[in-house]
Amino acid sequence: MRRGSWKIRIFIGLAIVAFAFVQRCNNKEENPYTGRVQNINMSTEQEVAIGLQSAPEVAQQYGGLYPDERLQSFVDQLGNKLVNNSIARETPYKYDFHLLADEQTINAFALPGGPVFVTYALFSQLNEAQLAGVLGHEIGHVIGRHSAERIADSNFWQTISMGASVGADAGGIVNSIGQNTLLTNGRDDELESDELGVLFMIQSGYDPYEMIKVMEILKAAGGPNRVPEFQSTHPDPDNRIERIKEAIDRFKGQQ
Ligand SMILES: [Zn+2]
Repeated sequence: MRRGSWKIRIFIGLAIVAFAFVQRCNNKEENPYTGRVQNINMSTEQEVAIGLQSAPEVAQQYGGLYPDERLQSFVDQLGNKLVNNSIARETPYKYDFHLLADEQTINAFALPGGPVFVTYALFSQLNEAQLAGVLGHEIGHVIGRHSAERIADSNFWQTISMGASVGADAGGIVNSIGQNTLLTNGRDDELESDELGVLFMIQSGYDPYEMIKVMEILKAAGGPNRVPEFQSTHPDPDNRIERIKEAIDRFKGQQ
Protein backbone atom coordinates (compact mmCIF):
# COMPACT_ATOMS: atom_id res chain seq x y z
CA MET A 1 0.00 0.00 0.00
CA ARG A 2 1.17 3.48 -0.81
CA ARG A 3 2.32 5.65 2.07
CA GLY A 4 -0.33 8.21 3.08
CA SER A 5 -3.18 6.05 1.85
CA TRP A 6 -3.98 5.15 5.48
CA LYS A 7 -5.52 8.62 5.75
CA ILE A 8 -7.89 7.78 2.93
CA ARG A 9 -8.69 4.43 4.54
CA ILE A 10 -9.54 6.06 7.86
CA PHE A 11 -11.67 8.64 6.05
CA ILE A 12 -13.58 5.97 4.17
CA GLY A 13 -13.94 3.89 7.34
CA LEU A 14 -15.38 6.86 9.23
CA ALA A 15 -17.71 7.65 6.35
CA ILE A 16 -19.06 4.08 6.43
CA VAL A 17 -19.56 4.26 10.21
CA ALA A 18 -21.28 7.67 9.90
CA PHE A 19 -23.52 6.27 7.16
CA ALA A 20 -24.55 3.37 9.43
CA PHE A 21 -25.47 5.74 12.26
CA VAL A 22 -27.43 8.15 10.04
CA GLN A 23 -29.32 5.23 8.52
CA ARG A 24 -30.06 3.87 11.97
CA CYS A 25 -31.48 7.21 13.12
CA ASN A 26 -33.70 7.37 10.04
CA ASN A 27 -34.95 3.86 10.73
CA LYS A 28 -36.23 4.64 14.21
CA GLU A 29 -39.94 4.16 14.63
CA GLU A 30 -42.34 3.65 17.49
CA ASN A 31 -44.13 0.33 17.51
CA PRO A 32 -47.81 1.36 17.74
CA TYR A 33 -48.76 -1.86 19.59
CA THR A 34 -46.00 -2.03 22.20
CA GLY A 35 -45.06 1.68 22.37
CA ARG A 36 -41.38 0.75 22.13
CA VAL A 37 -39.07 2.73 19.80
CA GLN A 38 -37.25 0.34 17.48
CA ASN A 39 -34.77 0.37 14.62
CA ILE A 40 -36.42 -1.35 11.69
CA ASN A 41 -35.69 -1.17 7.98
CA MET A 42 -38.55 -3.13 6.49
CA SER A 43 -42.26 -2.57 6.08
CA THR A 44 -44.97 -4.73 7.67
CA GLU A 45 -45.80 -5.91 4.12
CA GLN A 46 -42.23 -7.15 3.74
CA GLU A 47 -42.45 -8.95 7.08
CA VAL A 48 -45.66 -10.69 5.98
CA ALA A 49 -44.07 -11.65 2.65
CA ILE A 50 -40.95 -13.10 4.33
CA GLY A 51 -43.06 -15.13 6.77
CA LEU A 52 -45.36 -16.52 4.08
CA GLN A 53 -42.46 -17.36 1.83
CA SER A 54 -40.36 -19.18 4.41
CA ALA A 55 -43.17 -20.98 6.29
CA PRO A 56 -43.32 -24.17 4.15
CA GLU A 57 -39.54 -24.63 4.19
CA VAL A 58 -39.31 -24.05 7.94
CA ALA A 59 -42.15 -26.52 8.56
CA GLN A 60 -40.27 -29.15 6.52
CA GLN A 61 -37.32 -28.88 8.92
CA TYR A 62 -39.64 -30.22 11.64
CA GLY A 63 -41.08 -33.06 9.59
CA GLY A 64 -43.91 -30.98 8.14
CA LEU A 65 -47.31 -30.49 9.72
CA TYR A 66 -48.70 -32.96 12.26
CA PRO A 67 -51.09 -35.18 10.31
CA ASP A 68 -54.16 -34.78 12.53
CA GLU A 69 -56.70 -32.23 11.30
CA ARG A 70 -58.49 -32.16 14.63
CA LEU A 71 -55.36 -31.14 16.56
CA GLN A 72 -54.36 -28.67 13.83
CA SER A 73 -57.68 -26.89 14.11
CA PHE A 74 -57.50 -26.93 17.91
CA VAL A 75 -54.15 -25.08 17.75
CA ASP A 76 -55.46 -22.73 15.07
CA GLN A 77 -58.64 -21.90 16.98
CA LEU A 78 -56.80 -21.28 20.22
CA GLY A 79 -54.30 -19.00 18.45
CA ASN A 80 -57.09 -17.05 16.75
CA LYS A 81 -58.94 -16.67 20.02
CA LEU A 82 -55.85 -15.03 21.53
CA VAL A 83 -55.55 -12.74 18.50
CA ASN A 84 -59.23 -11.74 18.56
CA ASN A 85 -59.24 -10.91 22.26
CA SER A 86 -56.12 -8.73 22.11
CA ILE A 87 -54.47 -5.86 20.32
CA ALA A 88 -53.10 -8.41 17.84
CA ARG A 89 -56.49 -8.16 16.11
CA GLU A 90 -55.68 -4.56 15.10
CA THR A 91 -52.29 -5.34 13.58
CA PRO A 92 -51.79 -5.88 9.82
CA TYR A 93 -50.22 -9.31 10.38
CA LYS A 94 -51.51 -12.58 8.95
CA TYR A 95 -51.56 -14.93 11.93
CA ASP A 96 -51.62 -18.62 11.24
CA PHE A 97 -51.04 -21.37 13.81
CA HIS A 98 -49.52 -24.73 12.99
CA LEU A 99 -48.70 -27.95 14.82
CA LEU A 100 -45.45 -29.50 13.57
CA ALA A 101 -44.93 -33.25 13.32
CA ASP A 102 -41.59 -33.30 15.19
CA GLU A 103 -42.04 -35.45 18.31
CA GLN A 104 -38.44 -35.06 19.58
CA THR A 105 -37.64 -31.35 19.47
CA ILE A 106 -39.28 -29.17 22.09
CA ASN A 107 -39.80 -25.89 20.29
CA ALA A 108 -42.15 -23.11 19.33
CA PHE A 109 -41.42 -20.09 17.18
CA ALA A 110 -42.92 -17.36 15.05
CA LEU A 111 -41.88 -16.10 11.63
CA PRO A 112 -42.10 -12.40 10.84
CA GLY A 113 -45.57 -11.27 9.81
CA GLY A 114 -47.60 -13.94 11.55
CA PRO A 115 -46.93 -17.67 10.99
CA VAL A 116 -46.63 -19.43 14.39
CA PHE A 117 -45.45 -22.99 14.96
CA VAL A 118 -45.34 -25.41 17.87
CA THR A 119 -43.80 -28.89 17.70
CA TYR A 120 -45.79 -31.93 18.77
CA ALA A 121 -43.04 -32.66 21.33
CA LEU A 122 -43.88 -29.43 23.18
CA PHE A 123 -47.62 -29.47 22.43
CA SER A 124 -48.03 -32.95 23.97
CA GLN A 125 -46.73 -31.68 27.32
CA LEU A 126 -49.11 -28.73 27.63
CA ASN A 127 -52.68 -28.19 28.79
CA GLU A 128 -54.86 -25.65 26.98
CA ALA A 129 -53.91 -22.68 29.17
CA GLN A 130 -50.20 -23.49 28.82
CA LEU A 131 -50.54 -23.78 25.05
CA ALA A 132 -52.27 -20.38 25.13
CA GLY A 133 -49.19 -19.07 26.96
CA VAL A 134 -46.80 -20.48 24.35
CA LEU A 135 -48.87 -19.20 21.40
CA GLY A 136 -49.35 -15.84 23.14
CA HIS A 137 -45.58 -15.57 23.59
CA GLU A 138 -45.09 -16.25 19.86
CA ILE A 139 -47.77 -13.70 18.89
CA GLY A 140 -45.72 -11.33 21.06
CA HIS A 141 -42.67 -11.91 18.83
CA VAL A 142 -44.76 -10.99 15.77
CA ILE A 143 -46.27 -7.84 17.29
CA GLY A 144 -42.90 -6.87 18.80
CA ARG A 145 -41.43 -7.17 15.25
CA HIS A 146 -38.46 -8.92 16.82
CA SER A 147 -37.17 -10.63 13.65
CA ALA A 148 -37.26 -7.39 11.67
CA GLU A 149 -35.50 -5.62 14.51
CA ARG A 150 -32.72 -8.24 14.66
CA ILE A 151 -32.26 -8.03 10.88
CA ALA A 152 -31.85 -4.24 11.15
CA ASP A 153 -29.45 -4.75 14.07
CA SER A 154 -27.29 -7.18 12.20
CA ASN A 155 -27.23 -4.96 9.08
CA PHE A 156 -26.11 -2.11 11.31
CA TRP A 157 -23.31 -4.13 12.90
CA GLN A 158 -22.21 -5.50 9.53
CA THR A 159 -21.83 -1.95 8.19
CA ILE A 160 -20.05 -0.75 11.33
CA SER A 161 -17.61 -3.64 11.25
CA MET A 162 -16.99 -3.04 7.55
CA GLY A 163 -16.15 0.58 8.42
CA ALA A 164 -13.91 -0.56 11.25
CA SER A 165 -12.00 -3.03 9.11
CA VAL A 166 -11.49 -0.51 6.30
CA GLY A 167 -10.45 2.29 8.65
CA ALA A 168 -8.54 0.51 11.40
CA ASP A 169 -8.35 -3.27 10.83
CA ALA A 170 -10.72 -3.57 13.80
CA GLY A 171 -13.55 -5.38 12.04
CA GLY A 172 -13.18 -8.51 14.16
CA ILE A 173 -13.47 -6.70 17.48
CA VAL A 174 -16.49 -4.70 16.35
CA ASN A 175 -18.05 -7.88 15.00
CA SER A 176 -17.82 -9.63 18.36
CA ILE A 177 -19.29 -6.60 20.15
CA GLY A 178 -22.12 -6.78 17.61
CA GLN A 179 -22.67 -10.51 18.20
CA ASN A 180 -22.90 -9.88 21.91
CA THR A 181 -25.39 -7.05 21.46
CA LEU A 182 -27.51 -9.25 19.21
CA LEU A 183 -27.58 -11.97 21.88
CA THR A 184 -28.53 -9.54 24.64
CA ASN A 185 -31.24 -7.99 22.50
CA GLY A 186 -32.50 -11.50 21.75
CA ARG A 187 -33.01 -12.10 25.48
CA ASP A 188 -34.91 -8.82 25.81
CA ASP A 189 -37.18 -10.01 23.00
CA GLU A 190 -38.02 -13.10 25.04
CA LEU A 191 -38.89 -11.08 28.11
CA GLU A 192 -41.12 -8.74 26.08
CA SER A 193 -42.84 -11.75 24.49
CA ASP A 194 -43.36 -13.39 27.87
CA GLU A 195 -45.09 -10.24 29.12
CA LEU A 196 -47.29 -9.97 26.04
CA GLY A 197 -48.08 -13.68 26.32
CA VAL A 198 -49.21 -13.23 29.92
CA LEU A 199 -51.39 -10.25 28.92
CA PHE A 200 -53.00 -12.20 26.06
CA MET A 201 -53.70 -15.13 28.42
CA ILE A 202 -55.51 -12.82 30.85
CA GLN A 203 -57.47 -11.15 28.04
CA SER A 204 -58.67 -14.55 26.79
CA GLY A 205 -59.64 -15.74 30.27
CA TYR A 206 -56.72 -18.10 30.96
CA ASP A 207 -54.88 -18.31 34.26
CA PRO A 208 -51.60 -16.45 33.62
CA TYR A 209 -49.81 -18.48 36.31
CA GLU A 210 -49.90 -21.36 33.82
CA MET A 211 -47.13 -19.48 32.00
CA ILE A 212 -44.89 -20.23 34.97
CA LYS A 213 -45.68 -23.93 34.55
CA VAL A 214 -44.62 -23.59 30.91
CA MET A 215 -41.23 -22.33 32.11
CA GLU A 216 -40.97 -25.27 34.49
CA ILE A 217 -41.79 -27.70 31.69
CA LEU A 218 -39.09 -26.11 29.53
CA LYS A 219 -36.63 -26.31 32.38
CA ALA A 220 -37.40 -29.99 33.03
CA ALA A 221 -37.11 -30.72 29.32
CA GLY A 222 -33.62 -29.27 29.46
CA GLY A 223 -32.42 -32.40 31.27
CA PRO A 224 -28.80 -33.07 32.15
CA ASN A 225 -27.36 -33.40 28.66
CA ARG A 226 -29.92 -32.10 26.25
CA VAL A 227 -30.79 -28.44 25.72
CA PRO A 228 -34.01 -27.91 23.78
CA GLU A 229 -33.84 -25.25 21.09
CA PHE A 230 -36.64 -23.24 22.64
CA GLN A 231 -34.41 -22.88 25.67
CA SER A 232 -31.02 -22.40 24.03
CA THR A 233 -32.20 -19.22 22.32
CA HIS A 234 -34.17 -18.17 25.36
CA PRO A 235 -33.06 -16.67 28.66
CA ASP A 236 -32.78 -18.74 31.80
CA PRO A 237 -36.26 -20.00 32.89
CA ASP A 238 -35.73 -18.90 36.53
CA ASN A 239 -35.04 -15.39 35.35
CA ARG A 240 -38.12 -15.46 33.17
CA ILE A 241 -40.33 -16.74 36.01
CA GLU A 242 -39.48 -13.72 38.14
CA ARG A 243 -40.31 -11.35 35.29
CA ILE A 244 -43.54 -13.22 34.52
CA LYS A 245 -44.67 -12.89 38.15
CA GLU A 246 -44.01 -9.15 38.02
CA ALA A 247 -45.98 -8.83 34.77
CA ILE A 248 -48.94 -10.78 36.20
CA ASP A 249 -49.06 -8.48 39.25
CA ARG A 250 -48.90 -5.42 37.02
CA PHE A 251 -51.60 -6.54 34.56
CA LYS A 252 -53.90 -7.79 37.33
CA GLY A 253 -53.53 -4.43 39.09
CA GLN A 254 -54.72 -2.70 35.91
CA GLN A 255 -57.98 -4.64 35.77
ZN1 LIG B 1 -39.48 -16.64 22.25
